[in-house]
Amino acid sequence: MQVYVEKPKCTGCAHCFDVCPVAVFEMKDRASPEANADVAPESEQWKGSSEPAVVSKWSSVQDGHKHFAEKYEGSSGGISVGINGPACILCQACLVECEGECIVITDDSNNVYKSIYK
Ligand code: SF4
Ligand code: SF4
Repeated sequence: MQVYVEKPKCTGCAHCFDVCPVAVFEMKDRASPEANADVAPESEQWKGSSEPAVVSKWSSVQDGHKHFAEKYEGSSGGISVGINGPACILCQACLVECEGECIVITDDSNNVYKSIYK
């Protein structure tokens, strides 16, 4: 399995990190070189700015955690990296919890699964 995050859409909600049973995701500071340590294509890598439509949707939502914060602070913030994709068991838990609808999973038969927020 290959897993990556479309970084410009990631709110840093850390829902993927929280629900994944096999620790595929790690939360990284946005300024860290590790922010692009998964297999995201060049166009979906973090380059310092978030997608305006996602910012507009989530920046003022009061749901108990931060959105678009620079650093991970124990419950949210930073940016998610699908660093351990080969461990994915395709349970799909992350796919319905992803605020930015920005998780992409490709299985061994090249089927592609994308997140749709519940
Ligand atoms: S689908 Fe894969 S990456 Fe997502 S929560 Fe399940 S095991 Fe983790
Ligand atoms: S659930 Fe989606 S938006 Fe939230 S941190 Fe993970 S990849 Fe980013």
